[in-house]
Amino acid sequence: MTGQYTREYWQSALDAATLNGRMFINGGFEDAADGTTFVRIRPMDGKPGGTFARGKAVDIDRAVAAARAAFESGVWRKKDPAEKKRILLKWADLIRENREELALLETIDVGKPVMASLNVDVALAANCIQYYAELCDKLYDEVAPTGPNDRAIVRKVPLGVIGAITPWNYPLIIDSWKLGPALAAGNSVVLKPAEQSSLSAIRIAELASQAGLPDGVLNIVTGYGEEAGQALARHMDVDMIAFTGSTEVGKLIMGYAAQSNLKRVALELGGKSPIVVFADADLDAAASAAAWGCFYNAGETCHASTRLLAERSIMDELISKIEEVTAREITLGHPFEPSAQIGALIEDAHLEKVLGMIEAGEKEGSKRAFGAEKVMAETGGSYMSPGVFVAKSNSDSLARNEIFGPVLTAIAFDGEEEALKLANDTNYGLAGAVFTSDMGKAHRVSEGIHAGTVWINTYDISSLATPFGGFKQSGFGRDRSVHAIDKYCDYKTIWQRFG
Ligand code: NAP
Ligand code: MG
Repeated sequence: MTGQYTREYWQSALDAATLNGRMFINGGFEDAADGTTFVRIRPMDGKPGGTFARGKAVDIDRAVAAARAAFESGVWRKKDPAEKKRILLKWADLIRENREELALLETIDVGKPVMASLNVDVALAANCIQYYAELCDKLYDEVAPTGPNDRAIVRKVPLGVIGAITPWNYPLIIDSWKLGPALAAGNSVVLKPAEQSSLSAIRIAELASQAGLPDGVLNIVTGYGEEAGQALARHMDVDMIAFTGSTEVGKLIMGYAAQSNLKRVALELGGKSPIVVFADADLDAAASAAAWGCFYNAGETCHASTRLLAERSIMDELISKIEEVTAREITLGHPFEPSAQIGALIEDAHLEKVLGMIEAGEKEGSKRAFGAEKVMAETGGSYMSPGVFVAKSNSDSLARNEIFGPVLTAIAFDGEEEALKLANDTNYGLAGAVFTSDMGKAHRVSEGIHAGTVWINTYDISSLATPFGGFKQSGFGRDRSVHAIDKYCDYKTIWQRFG
């Protein structure tokens, strides 16, 4: 499947690439008003990546003004739904046509294997835009029951200007999860990508414009969270913030909304998702799901299966099997190597944070089963091997805190009741899984786990047709599926009396 996609192929594409780090406002590229920039260090080799405009409140003001003007003019909101569909479908096509370039940009920014960027991130982003494009002319309003002399139409109307703030782990996918439904519903958007991952956002905004999206409908402001992000979330003329990121920053966003204009907020936050494995399960399948569920994307996945709850009698066997799967299948390597299944972590500071959490966990008494060490340091990149720890209990820090690296924490349990208690003993509620051959047990435990998605005898299977998001401190609001449209709209009643 890799064919022409050798390491040399991507290296020459990198050598030839021009990295555009300017903001995209009102249909054109812009520098920060004060001319300041910042440089991104590439996690694959520690060399300088792109140079980006360091947007601040005044740049957010410009972008929000452009978004508001586009919204009020009706140039997008009032467009024939079939025409909106055509433009968004064209955009999805352009993302596919430019998939190699987009995959390269994503990998330069975040260090994931370029083949994953190509076959997963870019592909899913295009599919997502296509999915919401196709919904444009299939959204109906309602007529409410009234007496014979009245007609009450309940319209679903766009909110206005949406501020989207996104993280660095799956930039294209998460951006498309926000942009697809927000734009299909007729809103304008100002997107602030994470400072680590702006390249793909800038490029897809340019492609949207090329597809025919009117100026001002989609704007990208690059910069730091505390500057551009905060200004967007505090802006008095933004109607909603669609945020994906950490629980800590999610709480700040709610505060900013309360302290400014009571804008709506949707939060997709962190997780510490349990994978519950009973002794009667297919242990090979469970080991494969646990390893891939936790280590894919170097563990930088909000719904990663980071807590392995294993029935005591099979714990050791299961960990051995996870080690085997990891050694056999989850090849760590330079992101341009076709064989690499996982690449670098997002940056050195994050790698050091992960190693620090491990050190603290070991001091508390969590025991290393294998891996989880800094590797490939000679490349200058930020790499670590996947690994497993056995915690003394679910109270250990490695069992409680989101690590966001390739680190799985195993905890033993005795019986179904304890399994469920441990599974729910977390501040988070993003995802979970249960492995058993007893379908009654599978049903009871999957119903009992308080999380937005629970898998039975699998992990991380999903589609655009199902909603994604969390309970508890994993946030609220759902991305994906037709339901995602709801959060970018509100109901408006138009009541008419006859005669
Ligand atoms: P983060 O630090 O919370 O940042 C997320 C976004 O918020 C970035 O664009 C960041 O900008 C911005 N930001 C930071 N401080 C801000 C502030 N004071 N005001 C406004 N915006 C601010 O998260 P991250 O490190 O990028 O991503 C990892 C986290 O995201 C993990 O906790 C993970 O679980 C979560 N996540 C959740 C989901 C989900 O769907 N539930 C999906 C993916 C990731 P800068 O980085 O430029 O400062
Ligand atoms: Mg950040």
